[in-house]
Amino acid sequence: MSAKSRLPLRPNLRRVWIKLCLGALLCLPGLGWSQAESVPENLSRVAPAYRGDRILIKPKPGTATNALPEFHEQRGTSVLKTFGGIGGWQVLQLTAGESIQTTVQKYEQSGMVDRVEPDFVVRIAATTPNDPAYLDGTLWGLNNMGQNSGTDDADIDAPEAWDALTSASNIVVAVLDTGVRYTHEDLAANMWTSPHDGSHGFNAINGSNDPKDDNGHGTRVAGILGGVGNNGKGVAGVAWRVQIMACKFIDRDGFGSISDAIACIEFARTNGAQVINASWGFYEFSMALSDAVSSAREADMIVVAAAGNDARNTDLIPFYPASFEFDNIVSVAATTREDDLVWYSNFGATSVDLAAPGTNIYSTDFLSDTAYAMDEGTSMATPFVTGAIALMLEKYPGETHQQIISRLMSATDPLPALAGKCLTGGRLNLRRAINPILRLIPKPAVPGGAFEFVVSGEPGQRYVLEATTNLNGWSPVFTNVTGPSGMFDFTDNRSTNAPERYYRAVASP
Ligand code: CA
Ligand code: CA
Repeated sequence: MSAKSRLPLRPNLRRVWIKLCLGALLCLPGLGWSQAESVPENLSRVAPAYRGDRILIKPKPGTATNALPEFHEQRGTSVLKTFGGIGGWQVLQLTAGESIQTTVQKYEQSGMVDRVEPDFVVRIAATTPNDPAYLDGTLWGLNNMGQNSGTDDADIDAPEAWDALTSASNIVVAVLDTGVRYTHEDLAANMWTSPHDGSHGFNAINGSNDPKDDNGHGTRVAGILGGVGNNGKGVAGVAWRVQIMACKFIDRDGFGSISDAIACIEFARTNGAQVINASWGFYEFSMALSDAVSSAREADMIVVAAAGNDARNTDLIPFYPASFEFDNIVSVAATTREDDLVWYSNFGATSVDLAAPGTNIYSTDFLSDTAYAMDEGTSMATPFVTGAIALMLEKYPGETHQQIISRLMSATDPLPALAGKCLTGGRLNLRRAINPILRLIPKPAVPGGAFEFVVSGEPGQRYVLEATTNLNGWSPVFTNVTGPSGMFDFTDNRSTNAPERYYRAVASP
């Protein structure tokens, strides 16, 4: 047969996986152990948002009794609450129609208040882009709060990661696919542009520099990894800014030849791409394609590839390029909004690396510059990982492809449904990939037994565990270096009847 690759088939939506409960790590109540301090690597750099309907004021002492209430009344504001214990601060409910800025100014100018403040909204360190499909919860893979019957936190923790980094603007990602609608409102600003002719990629089918998408698949892939974030339109990509190089070798019907795929890999390699998204594959082994991937590896390029959509174990039936045994290949399975493996996703304890969201994935589409559409499968899971790698390459520019992939693999969220189904047994977690937070994770404790926990932080980092009974003075109790997973275990044998004790971990050079 001729070597034709094909897009993973669109499956019927029948569910055969049994939903499993998430196994949470427990700490027995009553022991009084604290999860201690975690030491975030990055502090939030995001301007806080505030409520549009309330402000806080602190009245100036000595203001005539009725003056302020009359001023409130004139302005149509009402006092919701007064905090007598902290200087009489008032929470004011505003009427609609006036900006917070104006209201704050009016109160400042009244001469009757010491201080006026917007009612800032406190966030658990999370950056929210203003793209409509993100705000309305459609993009569950980025942030899942249980909307549409999903499972809370069955997502890649994108908003938490975006606190650290949203842009991979220096990174060129080659999308080897059906092309990309490079004029799309939510992609145009993120397209790679050739310094030679101003084009946005390559078309191996007709040998031109016009990779226009006539199928839609590649445009949807592009929007997932790099839809322009925070532009008030459409979607937010995993990376809000990135350079998308469109390399078309798959035709409008979803077929492409290996020779054209190789031409695209060559184009990507010789034009500065650092990562390739391959949301396609086939079950034939091609030495030529293998050599092309090997050449990309020698150029330190990462190839992120779909595991395939045939519910097969690719340890037994390899699917290429995902199953090539190069250390620059990342093979991606697909998960649902409930953190299950999608029933038709291929899997493999050694040949698949990790999973990413892959059902009901909303993205940019090819029919117009304002078109968006749903898609699914390992094809759509793959660009979540590619976008994550783009951000990692931006954050860790000196690292080799092995180091980046090691970070990626150690940053997954282990899921019961993925145990034995892929190498990591986990789903992508962007926050942990680009902003690893030092954590102390308690293990299930037995009454009277030793207390154990896991230190989870950067891979290959030395951490000193310190303990205290009074939260004032800390004493070092244990030092160790994390493995490639970023973790090591600690056991405290003194737990029985010991005074309450707190731990923290501190990175040390
Ligand atoms: Ca989350
Ligand atoms: Ca957008």
